[in-house]
Amino acid sequence: MPEGPEVETVRRSLTSVVGLPVSYVELSGSRVFRRVGAQRVAAALTGASFTRFDRFGKYLVAPLDSGEVFAAHLRMAGWFQVLDSFENAFSRHCHMLLGFADGSGLRYVDPRGFGELFVFDEESRADIFPEFLRLGPDMLKEPVSARLLAERFAGSRRAVKAVLLDQNVVAGLGNIYCDEALHAARIHPLRPASSLSVEDLERLAVSISDVLAAAVAAGGSTLSDGSYRRPDGSSGSFQVVHKVYGRAGRPCFSCGSTLEKTRVASRGTSFCPTCQSEF
Ligand code: ZN
Repeated sequence: MPEGPEVETVRRSLTSVVGLPVSYVELSGSRVFRRVGAQRVAAALTGASFTRFDRFGKYLVAPLDSGEVFAAHLRMAGWFQVLDSFENAFSRHCHMLLGFADGSGLRYVDPRGFGELFVFDEESRADIFPEFLRLGPDMLKEPVSARLLAERFAGSRRAVKAVLLDQNVVAGLGNIYCDEALHAARIHPLRPASSLSVEDLERLAVSISDVLAAAVAAGGSTLSDGSYRRPDGSSGSFQVVHKVYGRAGRPCFSCGSTLEKTRVASRGTSFCPTCQSEF
């Protein structure tokens, strides 16, 4: 499932289609358009061009030259693919095909259909995209500090991993990068967020920044299910350096203990019982 680093990788690639007028739009009638309907999306995109691609947490947000704004969330397996030619490119599991005036194209493919494509404008943003105003500070953009984490955790008794996964607390982290950052900071995922000392928060802040920066540099993580690929079709490479995610039952690279698996906020969670003691 794409998290902040994967969506950031996608965002950077999509800058290649900025400024190209959309001359062709073909959409499925699928639930990826559930928020505003496929017709509304088609009407906004036809004849328009993207002025830039921004990222807010795991959302891609692209203002159009018309004043409207296109937005996407990849959820489980959404994939934007940049095409040299859009001709006959509406393939299986394709939900949106855009053709540009220069003959190139952009396709949104999503075998599971959990992703979302929608448009809004300044007036309708709060109604159509209410999550936008609730998103916590973006962990890939903000300088992450112990003070910021303490403020965002606000004395919560919830498990620290559950708090980090909550996009309203901090945005951009998902299951992979929470497990990796907590391991690097030597913090048990089930510890109440309020139990973290200033030293714990300082280590966690550094770990979050370091893990996310390294993941972006590697183009994100492509897992064995192949659910994330870059817009040029290539894979990310951060999965080869995962230290805990997906490694339960195997030895910890730091101490040799067998990594364990638990569930936090109904997500499978890997951790080292030695490096990440519960107290
Ligand atoms: Zn260990």
